[in-house]
Amino acid sequence: MGAQVLDGKAVAREVLDETAERVAALRDRGKETTLATVLVGDDPASAAYVRSKRRRAAEVGIRSVHHELGSDVSQDRVVDLLRGLNDDPSVDGILLQLPLPDGLDDQGTALEIDPAKDVDGLHPTNLGMIVLDRPVFAPCTPSGCLRILQHYGIPIRGANVVVVGRSFLVGRPLALLLAARGADATVTIAHSRTADLAGVARRADILVVAVGRPEMVTACYVREGAVVIDVGINRNEAGSLVGDVKYDEVAEVASAITPVPGGVGPMTVAMLMHNTAIAAGMREPT
Ligand code: NAP
Repeated sequence: MGAQVLDGKAVAREVLDETAERVAALRDRGKETTLATVLVGDDPASAAYVRSKRRRAAEVGIRSVHHELGSDVSQDRVVDLLRGLNDDPSVDGILLQLPLPDGLDDQGTALEIDPAKDVDGLHPTNLGMIVLDRPVFAPCTPSGCLRILQHYGIPIRGANVVVVGRSFLVGRPLALLLAARGADATVTIAHSRTADLAGVARRADILVVAVGRPEMVTACYVREGAVVIDVGINRNEAGSLVGDVKYDEVAEVASAITPVPGGVGPMTVAMLMHNTAIAAGMREPT
């Protein structure tokens, strides 16, 4: 059986088109939408992520204002910058590209972003709103996964979902979004200490993998006909981009699967733009 390919690029295009319309409507009412991007240090991967986010922002009519700080900067300096952006009425959303260089505290720094401008959805207030079943800004990768499932009409209500990975960035918030009222999945969270991971994963109707281990999940983790969402982005030994799932062999067993690249990755950026437009709408003068 060949699995249906869940085309994240196409779904991302839909999200970006909706966002462009939302941004244009705001502009017609006199409100520009502005995203502030903050890059600390000289990690080339982080710099590339920020560039691609700014490119997408420009495509949908969001103005982006970029700030760069050196890798030897103090935590206080980063915090000062974020507080300035919080106070700047022209800024609707703030993207602090993580991870920060060694010596700086990712979570402690992100805590300084005003939750109303936290378009990455990683502030404890926004994570807490998910626990309360009242998400405002859900983190972009988990909400992107959910959107792919919804776009393709994959039944979530009552489905057994296994999320492998429990990071605060992906696994945990995604598990909460899937188990929330309205989504109504029955969710298991698995991690590095899970006993018989392959057996647990085989119980899934929908298997989401976010572990950061190249091609770890092979066909023996997947029940015939399951839907597989691969969040992983890794480089293999040959230097190619691969997911956490061994695509070719899992595609023989699954009914549907996201590719890497072209699956969850484009959704993360699209959902950031979506959140930024929502933030601008919330700040529109009445
Ligand atoms: P992370 O913070 O390193 O968390 C990895 C999780 O996987 C942890 O909960 C860990 O368990 C679990 N894990 C590690 N090895 C395992 C194993 N052998 N068996 C079972 N569970 C295992 O990573 P992350 O930030 O969630 O990212 C995960 C992957 O998604 C990475 O490849 C990352 O590049 C990718 N990612 C992609 C996007 C995108 O836009 N597509 C966005 C974000 C991240 P413990 O908690 O027990 O250590």
